[in-house]
Amino acid sequence: MSKNISPVCKLCRREGEKLFLKGARCYTPKCAFEKRSYAPGQHGKTGSRNSASRTGRESDFARQLRAKQKARRIYGILERQFRRYYDTAIGRRGLTGLNLLQILESRLDNIVFRLGYAASRAQARVLVTHGHFIVNGRRTDIPSMILKEGDEVAVREGSHSLNYFKEVSDFAEKRTFPAWLGRDLKKLSGRVDRMPERVEIDGSLNEQLIVEYYSRR
Ligand code: SF4
Repeated sequence: MSKNISPVCKLCRREGEKLFLKGARCYTPKCAFEKRSYAPGQHGKTGSRNSASRTGRESDFARQLRAKQKARRIYGILERQFRRYYDTAIGRRGLTGLNLLQILESRLDNIVFRLGYAASRAQARVLVTHGHFIVNGRRTDIPSMILKEGDEVAVREGSHSLNYFKEVSDFAEKRTFPAWLGRDLKKLSGRVDRMPERVEIDGSLNEQLIVEYYSRR
């Protein structure tokens, strides 16, 4: 499995906004974006993208590309897989943009993160890859697994004794979780009650621009 190995804080600086990819650190003064809120690289402070954004001269294509890249980076997905999700979204009934966002939200790593069992999607991905979760009673190590309505996810029985999972319910309790999911902290489990509605997904994502980006190619 290939993965993006560039420093994640650079991704926030590249997008010009905080993407909250590192969990708790993102909410502290250690956040790299708080210190350097300009694009990375030699010309970061004066680069063409930054100056174009500031003066409102950004082209339609640039805005579409940025919207797509931002979504990819938030969910930690490589281009080829993101494109596959888009193709799946087209094949479904309803609005392609919303379908795409629902697919992204339905990934197992995202759901583990949303349930509060990991501080970030990246951490959720590692936990799933290490086999700490079961879906509908079966062990899985595939973070990209797409869950559907009625699916149940839980921490594997054998992992409950690990220090991390002994403490995770305290951590999860402090975090809210979306209404489309159910959660049982005592059992360290959760359930997909339904698909999320648009208002329940990150409002800063612009799925219309993502659809436009792929439509022109
Ligand atoms: Fe982005 Fe979090 Fe890094 Fe800040 S700490 S730059 S929000 S990933």
